[in-house]
Amino acid sequence: MNISGPVNTAGNLRGLETLMMDIILNPDLVSGLVRFSEGVMRSTIEYIGADCADAVFIAAASDNPDMLGLEEFMKISLPSVRNVTNFCHDMGLPAIFHPHGLFSTEDRKEVLRASLDTGVDGFQFAEDNTPSGILRETSGRCCVLGGLDAFNVLLLGPEERIIRSVGSLLDSLFGEDYIMTCSCSLNRGVPIKNIKTMADATRSYCGGRA
Ligand SMILES: [Zn+2]
Repeated sequence: MNISGPVNTAGNLRGLETLMMDIILNPDLVSGLVRFSEGVMRSTIEYIGADCADAVFIAAASDNPDMLGLEEFMKISLPSVRNVTNFCHDMGLPAIFHPHGLFSTEDRKEVLRASLDTGVDGFQFAEDNTPSGILRETSGRCCVLGGLDAFNVLLLGPEERIIRSVGSLLDSLFGEDYIMTCSCSLNRGVPIKNIKTMADATRSYCGGRA
């Protein structure tokens, strides 16, 4: 099941721009909203998770260190991600965290490590991260997802570029507890043939390595 992350949910409730201003002007309100959002996540997971989910995917575009600031991301978002992950584990469900923003550079090492310290079972990195920078921290700790740029490559193509990008990603990620996905949700309007090209290129790469 796919569920909106804590700051993501708070942004949906409050309006994202207003929430960003609140971080500076009214931090207590932000804490309250994020706590409430965590409650919304728990209730949803409890309801759907008990019924039909095999895993919980925390979709968290606004749980984003570039947007919130590194300290604020660790202080505002991650405690709720940790609580929700524990809640998932108590239900026997793995949790995958998909924050947006940069995590793979040297100056983001601490923020990536803190994200994994929440206990998540999978980390899907968004656009503009390098696989090697992500693997430095995820290796041996959790599985990794993401990689193929959902907009610039998967949506726009062309086919040769998709195949080339899949190959170069898998050169870094094959065998590293990697689950092949693109970098984010499939955009409305992505040609189905591009998704098939990605899947076929992945299969043929892995077939060559088997
Ligand atoms: Zn995304």
